[in-house]
Amino acid sequence: MEVKKSIKKLFNKFSSSPDRILVTGGMGYIGSHTVVELINAGYEVCIIDNLSNSSVDVLNGIEKITGVRPVFENIDCTDYVALDKFFKKYEGIKAIIHFAALKAVGESVERPLPYYRNNLTSLINILELMPLNGIKSIVFSSSCTVYGQPDELPVKETAPIKKALSPYGNTKQICEEIIHDTIHSNDKIKSIILRYFNPIGAHPSAEIGELPNGVPNNLLPYVAQAAAGIRKKLKVFGGDYNTPDGSCIRDYIDIMDLAKAHVCAMKRLIDGKVESVETFNLGTGRGLSVLEIIKTFEEVNDIKVPYEMADRREGDIEQVWADPTYANEVLKWEAKESVKNTLRSVWKWQMHLMEQEEDHTKGGGMISGS
Ligand code: NAD
Ligand code: UDP
Repeated sequence: MEVKKSIKKLFNKFSSSPDRILVTGGMGYIGSHTVVELINAGYEVCIIDNLSNSSVDVLNGIEKITGVRPVFENIDCTDYVALDKFFKKYEGIKAIIHFAALKAVGESVERPLPYYRNNLTSLINILELMPLNGIKSIVFSSSCTVYGQPDELPVKETAPIKKALSPYGNTKQICEEIIHDTIHSNDKIKSIILRYFNPIGAHPSAEIGELPNGVPNNLLPYVAQAAAGIRKKLKVFGGDYNTPDGSCIRDYIDIMDLAKAHVCAMKRLIDGKVESVETFNLGTGRGLSVLEIIKTFEEVNDIKVPYEMADRREGDIEQVWADPTYANEVLKWEAKESVKNTLRSVWKWQMHLMEQEEDHTKGGGMISGS
């Protein structure tokens, strides 16, 4: 048995088969777009997801875009035994991109323990199983929430980490620390931590996109649903901030640009260029206000977004945008898409979802991400 395994490993090493990448949470919003870019870049992708915030039909969308249907296993990353079995079944995984996490900030305040259990246990299981399965590289999804309200803008990776305002934000900070401590104790493992700013948009084909669960928390899904008449009015949370138009400012990054950054990070890890842990901001370097986003969305899609000014949302940061220079230089990556095109893709995706809803009502089928 052992001899057979060694021969297989030797064969894999010298054959020109593509590198096999595990994507946890690969059926979700950022994961699915990254899977598309990984496949397009020639990687073999395996997906693990427990479908707690996604649909299996996302696989159809990925297949339509790439012509490839990646391996998918419905596994919960908190289940150590199931994960271990997965690694034994799909030998030779070269690296992991770990997206799987619960991400609703408000819900995490109401129900902190499932957030800590899910987000921390998933990462711990994966980090424990990596060396046992010969896996050396991991990309981790973090967030600009770790900076809180930065003292200086644009914010650099070296800016101080502020006390998290929610259990969700805290899980990202703790996960970053877990990765640092683990790699400090085992120098064979290497990691790239990616701190996302505000990902928006959908694949230009509208075959995959963001599937908001219930009433959207995030701005763009709400804008799209308000424009579509699904929600009465968008509430703009706060018009009295110390910003040019009084609304909050964020760095909105196109989902395909974000996905491409993962391919660059993966390549850097696999090429052995990462010494221990590297952390990158993924943003455009440009801040836009909520009102600017609404206005541009209306202009490019020629549609009205009904909205009203409302009270500030608790825990919101006034303004944040990235200094992406480090990612530009080291990852050789840059956010390229215009916000206009991205906002077009948001509306195209919304229309796609509505067409599906209509088919579903007519035919009694499933609402899917494809
Ligand atoms: P998402 O909810 O669309 O995707 C996450 C996926 O992980 C879902 O498909 C869900 O079913 C799966 N999942 C959750 N827990 C799991 C578990 N225990 N085992 C297996 N699968 C599990 O979220 P997203 O927006 O694609 O976010 C991906 C990652 O990026 C998350 O770690 C999130 O915290 C982080 N992030 C997201 C944003 C954002 O604005 N979307 C910003 C910063 C960071
Ligand atoms: N926002 C808003 N109305 C909404 C949702 C969001 O005004 O219904 C604002 C929010 O206050 C923030 C920005 O849009 O200034 C982005 O919010 P989102 O929840 O999308 O991302 P966050 O930056 O909070 O992670």
